[in-house]
Amino acid sequence: MSITIKSKSELAIMREAGKITANAIWYAGERLKAGMSTLDVDKLIGSYYAKHGCKSCFKGLYGFPANACISVNDEVIHGIPKSNRRLEEGDIVSIDTGASYKGFNGDSCWTFPVGKISDEAKALLEVTEQSLYEGIAQAQVGSRVGDISHAVEVYCASRGYGIVRNYCGHGIGREVHESPEIPNWGRAGHGARLVAGMTICIEPMINAKGDDVKVMKDGWTVKTVSGSLSAHFEHAIAITPDGPVILTQP
Ligand code: MG
Ligand code: MG
Repeated sequence: MSITIKSKSELAIMREAGKITANAIWYAGERLKAGMSTLDVDKLIGSYYAKHGCKSCFKGLYGFPANACISVNDEVIHGIPKSNRRLEEGDIVSIDTGASYKGFNGDSCWTFPVGKISDEAKALLEVTEQSLYEGIAQAQVGSRVGDISHAVEVYCASRGYGIVRNYCGHGIGREVHESPEIPNWGRAGHGARLVAGMTICIEPMINAKGDDVKVMKDGWTVKTVSGSLSAHFEHAIAITPDGPVILTQP
């Protein structure tokens, strides 16, 4: 899949898709509480989309069975919502989803606390979220993908966190996953040149300890090898002459 450039009217649709996506994530994220199952969380996302006349673009993507990936604690990404996976006070929960709207897609992820969380968890969430903004700041016309990657890597690695290297961000548009890949590590000044009208997802997946991850027996859920907590923050953004514009703003 090649890099696609969006027109002004296409960007306006993507802004709508992004807004619905972000609002669905926050609708569910603000309702998390101990005792809920991850399938309950998925149902909140599904009902939000239905109310807004759209569908999840995750459902069926590569055979994924749900509206959202719900990943808890040491689960990094691609957690399958389950009726017997109950949330507990102190958990951190990543909600990753996208709305399919008028032929275009949103894609965003946010990691939420369940009740009161440890200082270690709080620090991980703060660093991961800020690393996303460090990456977004580099998403300028004329810069390169490696400038984004390097900014995320330096911010997290210098604070002692692990960077997930097996998965990365991506272009987005009519397809959920388009070119180019946006890794969370790399060399500044290298990679594809960013041009106006490109839309990309930047999505740091950061572990409290160690880079390594493994896929569970369900074939989807990815966990940290160390057993440490992991956080995931993602925005879809547009590259514009006026700087990066976040499409997945609630
Ligand atoms: Mg995502
Ligand atoms: Mg993504």
